[in-house]
Amino acid sequence: MSRSAHPAGPRHADVLPEGHYTAPAADLNVLDPKVWAQTVTRTESGSVSVGGIDVADLAEEFGTPAYFVDEADFRARARAWRTAFGHDADVFYAGKAFLSRAVVRWLHEEGLNLDVCSGGELTTALSAGMPADRIAFHGNNKSVEEITKAIEVGVGRIVLDSFQEIVRVAHIAQSLGKRQRVQIRVTVGVEAHTHEFIATAHEDQKFGIALADGQAAEAVRRALTLDGLELIGIHSHIGSQIFDMAGFEVAARRVVSLLAQVRDEHGVELPEIDLGGGLGIAYTSDDDPREPHEIAKALGEIVTRECEAARLRTPRISVEPGRAIVGPTAFTLYEVGTVKPLEGLRTYVSVDGGMSDNIRTALYDAEYSVALVSRTSDAEPMLVRVVGKHCESGDIVVKDAFLPSDLAPGDLIAVPATGAYCRSMASNYNHALRPPVVAVRDGEARVIVRRETEEDLLRLDVG
Ligand SMILES: *Cc1c(COP(=O)(O)O)cnc(C)c1O
Repeated sequence: MSRSAHPAGPRHADVLPEGHYTAPAADLNVLDPKVWAQTVTRTESGSVSVGGIDVADLAEEFGTPAYFVDEADFRARARAWRTAFGHDADVFYAGKAFLSRAVVRWLHEEGLNLDVCSGGELTTALSAGMPADRIAFHGNNKSVEEITKAIEVGVGRIVLDSFQEIVRVAHIAQSLGKRQRVQIRVTVGVEAHTHEFIATAHEDQKFGIALADGQAAEAVRRALTLDGLELIGIHSHIGSQIFDMAGFEVAARRVVSLLAQVRDEHGVELPEIDLGGGLGIAYTSDDDPREPHEIAKALGEIVTRECEAARLRTPRISVEPGRAIVGPTAFTLYEVGTVKPLEGLRTYVSVDGGMSDNIRTALYDAEYSVALVSRTSDAEPMLVRVVGKHCESGDIVVKDAFLPSDLAPGDLIAVPATGAYCRSMASNYNHALRPPVVAVRDGEARVIVRRETEEDLLRLDVG
C-alpha cells in the first residue's frame, strides 16, 4: 500500500494533520471501479445509480441508512470463483460474511456450496433450499443442539476444532446411528499479514489444532478410531483480508505434509483438503486484490506439486471465500446530517447510521472509501472523518477520506465495499434499527432483509 502522511495537493488547508490517508483523487466525482459494485455508475444528471436505479430514488423508496447489493455483481463473482476452480474443486461461500435467503438461492443457482457456523445460519440455509450435503458446519464451540441438528439434517461435513469436539461429534453421530463426514481444522503456524483479530493460523489463538507439535496428527489418529466419524480431510483457514498468496502456499505445503504423514502412519490417503477463505478485496484505491483464476491456479499448482513430491494422489481442494464474493457487491447509503469543521484538523461528517451498521472501522481500524452520490461537485476536496450517530467517539465509519467542501446536510453519501461483515455484524446499539438490505438488478429493487422496526425492538423486550 502506498500510503503517505503528506498527500499531494490538499487545496483546502495549508497543513494537514498526521494520519494515513490517500491523496484526494484528481476528480472526486469519478468512482473507482475497483471499490464499487459492477453496475454502479454516475449518470448524466450527476447522481449515482446501481442496477440502473438512481440512488436518490432508492433513498426515497427504502430510506437511509440502507445497504444496496448489486445482484448481477454478486452472481458474477460467485460464478467467477466456481469457474476458476472447475469440477475438481468445491467453492463454499462463507455465510458469516452475509447470509440471507435470497443469497442462499443465488449461491445454489450459481453452483456454490455454503459454510455455516451456527444453528441460525444452518436454519437460514436450509429454509432457502440449500441441500444439506452442500453445507459445511464450522465453529470452535458448536453446541450439542447444533451438532445434533447438523447431523440429523445430513450436512456434508462438520469441521472439527478440538479434541473434545472430536469425541462429542462422534458420540452424537453414533447415538443417531450415523457416520458423519468430518474434516479436522489445523493451525499451520502461518502469520497472515492482516489484523490480529482476523488472523487465524498462528498458534496463540482459539481456532484449530496445531500442526507443529504433533497435536494435529494425534487428532487424526483419534478421529480414525471413532465409529461415528468418517474423516474426509484436513482444513486450514489462515485469516482474512489477505493479499499475499505466500501464506496460502505455506499452508498448502504443511497440510499436504500432514496427509503424507497420515498415509505413512495409517495407510489412509485422506481425499480432501480445504484451504479456507480470506482473500482480500479493495476497500480503497490502494488495494490490489487477486482474481479468482489467479488464486485457483496458484493453489492448484502448489497442491499438485507437493502431492507429486510426496507420492500422494492429489486431494480434492475446497476453498471458502466470503468477503471476496459479497464484499465488493454492496454499498451503504447514508444521508448527511451535520458537517462540523474543526479548524486545523478535519471536518466531521455525521451520518444517520454508524458503528451499528459498520463496526469494522472501530473493531479493526478498517479503511473505507466514501463518495458524494446524490450530485456532482466541483468544490475543493476537504479531509473528512465520516462518523455515526452513536454515543462513542470511536463511532467512526470512514476514518480519513476526502469529500467536496460544499457537502451539506441532506446530501447522500455512500461507502462502498460494505457487503461483507457489515450487516452480518450489525447491532442494535443505542436501540438503532438495523438497516435493510436491498437487492438491485436490471432496474428493479427488492428488499431481501427488511429494516428493523421499533416493534421488533419491543417484541424482544418482554419485561
Ligand atoms: C471467516 C471464514 C471464512 C471466510 O473468510 P473471508 O475472509 O470472508 O473470505 C472462510 N472459512 C472459515 C473457516 C472462516 O472462519
